[in-house]
Amino acid sequence: MPEGPEIRRIADALAEQVAGRVIDRIEFGVDSLKHWQRQLTGAKIEKIETYGKALVTHLSTVDDRQLCIYSHNQLYGRWFFCDTGNYPDSKRQLRIAIDCQGKSALLYSASDIAVLRKDELKQHSFIKKLGPDVLKRSTTAQQIVERLHLARFKNRQLGSILTDQSFVAGLGNYLRCEILFYAGLHPKVRGNELNKKDLRLLANTMLKLARQSYQSGGITNDMRQAKKLLKQGASFEDARFYVFRRQGLPCYRCATRIEKNAMAGQACFYCPQCQQRE
Ligand SMILES: [Zn+2]
Repeated sequence: MPEGPEIRRIADALAEQVAGRVIDRIEFGVDSLKHWQRQLTGAKIEKIETYGKALVTHLSTVDDRQLCIYSHNQLYGRWFFCDTGNYPDSKRQLRIAIDCQGKSALLYSASDIAVLRKDELKQHSFIKKLGPDVLKRSTTAQQIVERLHLARFKNRQLGSILTDQSFVAGLGNYLRCEILFYAGLHPKVRGNELNKKDLRLLANTMLKLARQSYQSGGITNDMRQAKKLLKQGASFEDARFYVFRRQGLPCYRCATRIEKNAMAGQACFYCPQCQQRE
């Protein structure tokens, strides 16, 4: 599943394609949303926002209503951009098609879509449960440290809370593994076992690696290391991570073999030497 940085880059591409434009035609491939089509025709696309892994397209209608389209890609949703009239030949289910002044944005296969009034957005069942978004500039390390002290999070293993969107929004499996490696913390350690210094390092790393991944197109590895590996001929997938999907390969810091364990329903990758349980 794409994580916060990937969704944010999709939002950027969607904004590039349609933001500031007026909708000439919109079609929903979901019966319950078809009644919106007429109301949204002629609306201006104001901006695209992300909430963790969800994407929100803000619109102002011809009668000046502030509406938004909420969509969550889950595992299979894909946005596709093209010039109007050049729709791809796809067997996927087309869920949203927006044509605006020669440009089109198409969402395939996603099933979690809603049209909401702007004032209803914060009450949406997914959005209202989200913790602070790691990619939002206003989110601080201090805020995250405070959440690590909350009763509902402090007794849980870090490997499990980092991907819990109610703790912070935007982290998925690769970021969880990479953050814990960078901070030198074992995935089974709990928030209440950490000293002040480790709490601060963990919170800072969550922001640092998520933002670096957004800006670099998905690299969480040390940038110099990643560039060196790419120069030596490594594939992008092989160069981008410290530990994720590197089981059996030597750790870049200590040469110990990376291990893989199941955690919170997903494979968790870590270095048994750099991430010891104290
Ligand atoms: Zn190591």
